[in-house]
Amino acid sequence: MILRLIFYAILFGAIYYAVRGLFGGGARARGDGEADEGSDDAMIACPECGTYFPRGIGVPGRVRGRKYLFCAVECAQSYRSRGGPPPDDGTPGREEA
Ligand SMILES: [Zn+2]
Repeated sequence: MILRLIFYAILFGAIYYAVRGLFGGGARARGDGEADEGSDDAMIACPECGTYFPRGIGVPGRVRGRKYLFCAVECAQSYRSRGGPPPDDGTPGREEA
């Protein structure tokens, strides 16, 4: 259990630095294929739970080299720990390392 706590602490730290990197850098230097439509108050769906939220308050997370915006840190963590989108109904959750 302690190991699990440490694991989440590290995850949280990584997300924290990702957020700092995004907002601290401030420069929107990337102009390639990233989906960047809409302004900060555009409503987007959380890839984890499907909740709609303003893009500006999204929690950025990087999963398998792709950037996503989540409605909450918890969603970013569970999405990342699974390594992809939630399985569709009927599919039992399987662990992929
Ligand atoms: Zn969510």
